Amino acid sequence: MIQASSVPQTRRAVRFDKRSALPYLLVAVQQAEAAMSAATIVADRLSKLIAERGVLLADGATGTNYFDMGLESGEPPEAWLTEHPDRVERLHSDFIAAGSDIVLTNSFGANAFRLKLHDLQHRTRELNRLAASIARRAANKAGRDVIVAGSMGPTGELFQPLGALTMDAAVEAFTEQARGLVEGGADVAWIETMSAAEELEAAARGALNAGLPYVFTASFDTAGRTMMGLTPEGLAELANRLPEPPVAYGANCGIGPGDLVASILQMSAVAPSDIFVAKGNCGIPQWVGDKVHYGGTPELMAEYARLARASGARIVGGCCGTSPGHIAAMRKALDSGVVPPRPTFEAVEASLGPITRPKAQAGGRARSGRRGGRGDGAE
Ligand SMILES: [Zn+2]
Repeated sequence: MIQASSVPQTRRAVRFDKRSALPYLLVAVQQAEAAMSAATIVADRLSKLIAERGVLLADGATGTNYFDMGLESGEPPEAWLTEHPDRVERLHSDFIAAGSDIVLTNSFGANAFRLKLHDLQHRTRELNRLAASIARRAANKAGRDVIVAGSMGPTGELFQPLGALTMDAAVEAFTEQARGLVEGGADVAWIETMSAAEELEAAARGALNAGLPYVFTASFDTAGRTMMGLTPEGLAELANRLPEPPVAYGANCGIGPGDLVASILQMSAVAPSDIFVAKGNCGIPQWVGDKVHYGGTPELMAEYARLARASGARIVGGCCGTSPGHIAAMRKALDSGVVPPRPTFEAVEASLGPITRPKAQAGGRARSGRRGGRGDGAE
């Protein structure tokens, strides 16, 4: 057995020995080590759970379920953190009871840019802390390991030169949000529904600044690309070139579950050893009057879970329209132990609905300009 004292302390070796720089260097080393240890502990929890359980089930939608629970159109979901914390906790608990291994906090729009629309920007840190602590409370009652993932959505701003957003301002906003999330007990930052590579990077840096490991997912809602033109392969490339890569990455929202599984197939084809997240909508969004409706059945979402797993996803959940009932059906599907062989685009389309890709991406698929409508304010 190796004694701890016999292990050389090479990690602590300081390469520079300029006397004047030493105090600053020591502080920098201490800060880096503090950040590393915080990140390592939390990352291990998610990775450990994936290793233990093979595949993890995330939760379903926040926004569309809140509408069913009484959220008014135009009301920010984050307002419920202070007005109806009991309802926020109840949805987390319902997902956990349905079998979710991961719950996402009610903080999708809780960055200063989005909160400013409701004059709540000065409460960014407090609201994120609250969001994480409510989810933590539900997770702690589960009686098994449940990961609290701190949801971080887009700022809604465009980066320069198309818009006014700078990298520094975006990193600052995401850092503030992530600090609140970690203070409230989040295990991991869950960056979702992203379109721009710059914003993905800014959110990742914000999470790391707060000592949180991160997961990121993009919304491929524009003929196989994000609104800002990122492809699934481009996302895989981005994830692998960041200095501190995500624990897992993938796709959420977008169009329907078939289209989402197609993006997982594309990512796993170029980066087969990575850990992918699939969080697809509950069917294809359809306008009913002035509301977007998601009509997927529990059976459809169970089939989606099997096909997402077979396509390489190790974390499977639902986005808009996915209720605890759908999650329970997905739990059964994943627990059946039956993993079908890696599907073709045609098989996915036949089971789950249309795949919208240019010919080159999907081998014979016609280009479609169809765009998915989204629930407002939260996934
Ligand atoms: Zn969604």
